[in-house]
Amino acid sequence: MKNIDPHTLRLDGIYQQKGEDRWMQRIKLPAGVLSSRQATLIADLADRFAGGRLHLTTRGSIELHDLRGHDLAELNRQLVAVGLTGRGACGGAVRGISCSTSFGPQFHACQSLARRLHRHFTGNPWFEGLPKKFKIGIEGSAENRRHLIQDVGLVFAGEREAEPLWDVWCGGGLGREPKPALLLAERVPERRLIPLIEGVLVVYRKGGEKGKRLKHLIAEIGETEFRDRLRAATPEPFDTLVRSGLGELLSPATDEEPVLVPIFAGELRADQLRRMARLADEYAGGCLAVTGNQDIAFAPTSEKNRAALQQRLNLAGPGDSLCNPAPTFRICPGSHECRMGLAPTRDIAAGILENLPAAASGLSLAISGCPNSCSQPQLADIGIVTRSLKRGPDGVREPRFDLLLGENTGLGHPLAQNIDIEDLQNRIIDVLITAINSEKTKAAS
Ligand code: SF4
Repeated sequence: MKNIDPHTLRLDGIYQQKGEDRWMQRIKLPAGVLSSRQATLIADLADRFAGGRLHLTTRGSIELHDLRGHDLAELNRQLVAVGLTGRGACGGAVRGISCSTSFGPQFHACQSLARRLHRHFTGNPWFEGLPKKFKIGIEGSAENRRHLIQDVGLVFAGEREAEPLWDVWCGGGLGREPKPALLLAERVPERRLIPLIEGVLVVYRKGGEKGKRLKHLIAEIGETEFRDRLRAATPEPFDTLVRSGLGELLSPATDEEPVLVPIFAGELRADQLRRMARLADEYAGGCLAVTGNQDIAFAPTSEKNRAALQQRLNLAGPGDSLCNPAPTFRICPGSHECRMGLAPTRDIAAGILENLPAAASGLSLAISGCPNSCSQPQLADIGIVTRSLKRGPDGVREPRFDLLLGENTGLGHPLAQNIDIEDLQNRIIDVLITAINSEKTKAAS
C-alpha cells in the first residue's frame, strides 16, 4: 500500500494508524444492529487480520485495528459478502446512522428509519466528497441528548395515521468548538425526511468550507440565512420512503427488555463476539447491537429466553468482560491506537475506575484522547477531554485535561481546564463525593 494516498481510502472507512503500514477499518451498522452471521464473520476477520481484537464505537460501529495494507481489499470483499460496508464511515460523507436508544422505547421505528437512510445515503456519489463528515443520529427520545451533537438529529415525536413523526435538529457537533444543534422543524412526517436531509446536504456542499462541519457554516451565515438557503434547496414535499411489505427490521420485533453486556472501553475479543453471536442465535432472534456506550445489547425473544440468556452471561466466568458490570465509561482509543491521541485513555480510565466509590456506579463518564471528543465527553455526567501536551520539569511531554460537568439539557461545561493527571483524579473524586452527598440529601428530604 506504499503508493496509495491514505486520503483516497477514507471514503471506504479506512484510516491510517500510528506506525508503519497500520490501518483501521470502520464498519457501518445502521442503528448499531448486526446479525449473528455478520458478527461471526467480523470475529473471523478480526482473528485473521486484526490480532483477534475489535473496537466498538460510540456511534454503534465496529472497528478493526492493526490491519496491514495488503489485507484491506480482501477484508472489504468479505464484508460485502454479508451485506456490510465501511463506505462513508470516514472522510467527507454521510457517516453511519447512529441510535443510542438501543432496543429501548421506539427502537423499531428508529431502526427502520436508520436502515432506510443508510441505504439511501451510503455510497451515493451525490453525498460523498462533502467538506467534512456528516453525522445523522436517530433517537427514540431526547433523554440521552445525542441529537444535540449531530449534523442532523432525529427524535421520535409520535405518530399520525401510523406514520412516525420526527423532530429534526440540525448543525450540532463536538470537537474543539462544541455546538448544540438547533431545532430545525417539529413533528416532520417520515416521508418528508429524505428531501429535507438532502436539502441540508445541498446547502452544506455548496456553502461549506473544506475541512469544516455544518455547524461552522451556520455560525458564519446565521440561522435565518441557513433556513432561507434550505427552503430554496428543498424540493416540494413528495412521498418518499415507501414502506417494505416485509418490514425493515434486521432484529426481531420483540418488546422484551434488552439484556446489556458491558464491554470496557468497547474493546472486545473475537472469541467473545463469536460467543455472543451464538447466544444471539439461541435467545435473541439471531441479532445483537452495539450500543452508544460501546457495549453489546440483546433483545431476547421471550421472558424465558431473557432469563436463560442472563444466566448464560452470568456463567461466563470471573475476569471476563462479558460478566463484569462497570459504570458507564465511554473511552476512545486515544494514544493507544489513534494518530490524534494525546493520552493513553484506557489506562487513565482504568485508574479512575479503580478509585471510584461504589455509590458512583449510576453516573456516566467519558474520556477522549484529544479535543475531537469521539467519546462524547460533553454528554457524560463527568467528561474528560485531553486538551494538549505540555513539557514537564523533566522534559517529558505530559497530557493536560479539561474536566467537564454534565448538564441536564445541553452540553457539559468545563469545571477545570488544562490540568494535569493528578489534579484531574483529585477533582473527579471531589465531584463524585459532592454528587453522592447531594443524592443522599435528596433521598432524605
Ligand atoms: S477523540 Fe481524538 S484520540 Fe480519541 S479517537 Fe477521536 S480523534 Fe482519536
